[in-house]
Amino acid sequence: MNNTLEQLAIHTITTRPWSAEECIAKYSAAGISGITFWRYNFETSSPESLGRQAREAGLEVVSLARGGFFPAETRLKRQEAIDDNFRAIDEARAAGAPSLVLVCGAFSGQSLDESRRHIHDGIAACIEHAQQAGVILAVEPLHPMYAESRSAINSMQQANQLCESLGNHPNVGIACDVYHTWWDPSLEEEISRAAKSGNLTAFHICDWVTPTTDLLNDRALMGEGCIELKKLSTAVKAAGFSGYHEVEIFSNRWWKSDQDNYLSAIIASFKKI
Ligand code: ZN
Repeated sequence: MNNTLEQLAIHTITTRPWSAEECIAKYSAAGISGITFWRYNFETSSPESLGRQAREAGLEVVSLARGGFFPAETRLKRQEAIDDNFRAIDEARAAGAPSLVLVCGAFSGQSLDESRRHIHDGIAACIEHAQQAGVILAVEPLHPMYAESRSAINSMQQANQLCESLGNHPNVGIACDVYHTWWDPSLEEEISRAAKSGNLTAFHICDWVTPTTDLLNDRALMGEGCIELKKLSTAVKAAGFSGYHEVEIFSNRWWKSDQDNYLSAIIASFKKI
């Protein structure tokens, strides 16, 4: 059975030319059910206000993107990263978002093992604060092309190992994003492993096109590329995941287009999954 709009949420960055207020109004008018804010939205409006506006418009605030970026060269910088994650947790709580997406971090010149230690310790240092705020820290494994620059957690297997090494804490979960994980031969097995431990807390969708012309901002609309979205949507649901399908597309090409038409295209493509 195809998906319905009750399962659809959109990240505000997907329609980046719109303000957060415009996103709320347009998503709501289109019958979409959920919204994930990005922290840049709070540069112009408070998290409390945007969360309230979203709920008044009938949208569920699904998550906040994003925290993380724990690895750093010095202890002081690692502490600054933890402090920033505390602020992000507070913003998520203020917006009424039950989850904070983590892009865990990495930097050129440091070994992946060392970065993974910093990530483990950074998340461990945030758990109590997240628990008090009622916010889940959702580790998002990133595609290996970002292993040196954005995250040393690059597969669902690593995300599962990380959650397990933190004791499967209820305030730590995994955001499985198809853009980062579609290539993985053990993906369905690892989705099932995450769900069994209660760690599969978010599911992000878009598509992968070849050639990818920009490593960050050339994601595609569902159906434009090679990702087997129906298969993966079925896999997360079969594993017991009942949360939103969150559309998260960074695309210079789509951002240049008419955003109303784009929103219609997102809905049409989502319904086919
Ligand atoms: Zn994502």
